[in-house]
Amino acid sequence: MIIGILKEQADNRVALVPKTLKKFNVEYIEFRIEKGAGLLASYPDEKYEKYATVSDRESVLKHSDILVTINPISEKELQLIKKGALLVAIFSPFNNSELIAQIKEAGLQASSLDMIPRTTIAQTMDILSSMASIAGYRAVLLAAMESPGFFPMMITAAGSIKPSKVLVLGAGVAGLQAIATARRLGAIVEAFDVRAAAQEEVESLGAKFVEVPGAIDKRDAGGYAVEQTAEFIERQQQEVQKRAASSDVVITTAQILGKKAPVLLTKETVEKMKPGTIVIDLAASSGGNCELSEPGKTVNHKGVKIIGNSNLASEMPRDASFFYSNNVASYLKLLIKDGQLHLDFNNEIIEKTILTKS
Ligand code: NAD
Repeated sequence: MIIGILKEQADNRVALVPKTLKKFNVEYIEFRIEKGAGLLASYPDEKYEKYATVSDRESVLKHSDILVTINPISEKELQLIKKGALLVAIFSPFNNSELIAQIKEAGLQASSLDMIPRTTIAQTMDILSSMASIAGYRAVLLAAMESPGFFPMMITAAGSIKPSKVLVLGAGVAGLQAIATARRLGAIVEAFDVRAAAQEEVESLGAKFVEVPGAIDKRDAGGYAVEQTAEFIERQQQEVQKRAASSDVVITTAQILGKKAPVLLTKETVEKMKPGTIVIDLAASSGGNCELSEPGKTVNHKGVKIIGNSNLASEMPRDASFFYSNNVASYLKLLIKDGQLHLDFNNEIIEKTILTKS
């Protein structure tokens, strides 16, 4: 069996790193990697040579039985791939149904790693958690660099400075990592979430949990938040407005699986914020938590800088690739038996991730 690794087209990460390849049984599996695939993530071709064949892109596309990437490959390249091959990537199927249909039509199979259930048994494969954790950390560093002031309190002969106030909207994996990082830098942190379970986690990191009563919190939603009523969101927006007006940094991470992200920071709120405030919207690609954010862009609205970036993990490519690679390896081990692809749809993880079953 050949497992192919392609160079990402607009991302610094690589799907599998050399250290992970070592763990596979070479008797059954050959790795083929596109030349330069790991370079931007600090894994040059020489590091792969012991475990993989370094080839051109076309050869990887044509000969692989499983093709592993982070972002989906283009529709144009689907025709080059061997019939029956399995594409493993983050397909975001709720927003990419057309591509999934094209993959099926091309006689290929697709597996989407963002559909891995958030269960204990699947933890080692959970790319959403590993990438979100990097994004949360990176968001704080970016905010600290962009902010016109210090994060920690400073008492110096030249004057005293109060610690920055950081507001975190959504205390899931990214939000909790953002809280921990902002606290380590000395900021005062407040956080919102609609899941009651988040309160204890927020408080254990030394931040204040802001509760808006009346949230719908379904325990059978796989740990995910569910959509809130318009009335609740409006009350929440008012509460967020009160806090955001005195914050120096707002990091937004609130998402709802398969749905548009809730707008928590309205234009009116941004206009009440201090000039120099930094907003990092990690939910920008799923609609944005800030009404003014634009995915992949920085918007300056009356001195408030709104950075819409849902791909911050790509900006820490070495460690993000290492995590992704370990997650993928755990997942592949579930699918491969004695060098053959073995898709057991009675297994919840396989059943949830394979998008092309008929
Ligand atoms: P996510 O990216 O889907 O959303 C981020 C956060 O936004 C969540 O905490 C969510 O509750 C919150 N949110 C949604 N709407 C909101 C609103 N209107 N206001 C404020 N906050 C709002 O979530 P995630 O980080 O991927 O985590 C999802 C869940 O999965 C969490 O419960 C997490 O603890 C759980 N999880 C479980 C495992 C496991 O057991 N293996 C691993 C990772 C995460």
